[in-house]
Amino acid sequence: MSGVPVAVVTGANKGIGFAIVRALCKQFPGDVYLTARDPARGQEAVAKLQQEGLRALFHQLDIDDLQSIRALRDFLKEKYGGLNVLVNNAGIAFKVHDTAPFAVQAEVTLKTNFFGTRNVCTELLPLVKPYGRVVNVSSMVSSSALGGCSQELQQKFRSDSITEEELVQLMNKFVEDTKKGVHDREGWPNTAYGVSKIGVTVLSRIQARLLNEKRRGDHILLNACCPGWVRTDMAGPKATKSPDEGAETPVYLALLPSDADAPHGQFVSNKTVRPW
Ligand code: NAP
Repeated sequence: MSGVPVAVVTGANKGIGFAIVRALCKQFPGDVYLTARDPARGQEAVAKLQQEGLRALFHQLDIDDLQSIRALRDFLKEKYGGLNVLVNNAGIAFKVHDTAPFAVQAEVTLKTNFFGTRNVCTELLPLVKPYGRVVNVSSMVSSSALGGCSQELQQKFRSDSITEEELVQLMNKFVEDTKKGVHDREGWPNTAYGVSKIGVTVLSRIQARLLNEKRRGDHILLNACCPGWVRTDMAGPKATKSPDEGAETPVYLALLPSDADAPHGQFVSNKTVRPW
């Protein structure tokens, strides 16, 4: 088993994830895994970094596929005895003008952004070593979508005692409510992406709390963040930040020094903790 520190970035064949890997290759003292659901796209991205003189390693990971997540988990366990840095970056968003029915957009978006990210956490968090760093890439849209929720939902999503099971139930309820056409009446905002990212931010708060309860002495720091508005296939060419600039906050959180005890369980943007 290798004693080398190891970092894993999901959805890293392009966009912000690719830029996070590039920065980690320069700054993280260990092996950096660029993961992608499509091996050809992933290997191509690794080759691109190689041309820049950077050494990333590749492992397949489709966060929608539990078998794929478990294969990565077993690989990390066997080769490294765990992992040191996990960046949950993979995500999807329907384009504003997409004509797919809202209920379809809700189901598909939640499947990857919330349930896929949660499955990665369920399988990989137990492997995170002491002083490990976990970064869940959410979005400022999670904050604005929270503001668009009913008071009752806002209270639940801001609660310091909401459980993961309760959060999962709420995310499932959103999908069901869109299918029944009652999401408005039930207090949900009109954004599937926004609700999926509420899920990611609240999940991060819950996971940080669980780490405090169950692994207090392990000094693991886990946060959600917004990368900013970044020029990628998702956000388009008008966005204000380059992918490398978008990677700055996630990388800052991934490389928090070993003597840091904060931020933890926070929502961070531009390297600053934001109120939730
Ligand atoms: P992007 O260029 O569209 O890249 C998304 C990445 O996620 C791609 O590598 C994609 O792989 C991967 N992915 C999607 N579904 C996956 C799955 N099931 N399993 C594994 N990988 C999967 O988008 P981006 O702008 O870089 O976004 C990265 C993250 O930042 C997302 O979580 C996004 O919500 C968040 N974010 C972005 C912005 C922005 O302005 N760009 C703002 C706030 C938050 P494929 O190439 O195979 O599709």
